[in-house]
Amino acid sequence: MFCPFCIEQETKVIDSRLVAEGHQIRRRRECSTCKERFTTFEVAELVLPRVIKRDGSREPFNEAKLRLGLQRALEKRPVSTENVEKGINQIKSALRGTGEREVESELVGNLIMDELKELDKVAYVRFASVYRSFEDIREFGLEIAKLGQSNDTDGSVPDAGKQ
Ligand SMILES: [Zn+2]
Repeated sequence: MFCPFCIEQETKVIDSRLVAEGHQIRRRRECSTCKERFTTFEVAELVLPRVIKRDGSREPFNEAKLRLGLQRALEKRPVSTENVEKGINQIKSALRGTGEREVESELVGNLIMDELKELDKVAYVRFASVYRSFEDIREFGLEIAKLGQSNDTDGSVPDAGKQ
C-alpha cells in the first residue's frame, strides 16, 4: 500500500505478527522513500450480507431479530440456550459462506427452518406455519404427520428432501 506520508508506492513490511488471539495480523511497514513507519491491521471481512425483503427493500442483517424469531418458535421447548446460539452461528456462517453482499429474505427463512428442523420439530412447524403460511394445507398435514412419527427416542424424522 501507499505510504500515508509521502504517497510513495513502495513500502516494505518490517514486522508481522498475529494479534487479537489470531484474529488480526499487525504489520509494521516502512516507506522506502521517506523512511516513515506505520502500522496496518488485516482482519477477515465478517460482514453479513444485507437482506432483500419481499417488497424489494433492503435491510442490514439483524441478529437480535433472528434470535427473537428462534426463541419465539422454541418457546417452552426443551432446547438449551447454547444450542440456540449454535444454531444462530450456523445460520450466520451459512450467510457469510454465500459470499454475497445481499441475499433474499427467503434464503434466511430457509436457513432458519433447516436449523429448527435439527433443533426441535415442534418449533420447526411453529415457525414454518407462520413463515410460509403453509399456502398448501396438505403440506402442513404432512409436517404434522411427520411429528406424529417422531415420538421415538432419537426424535429423528425421515427427511422429505424437498426444497
Ligand atoms: Zn513515505
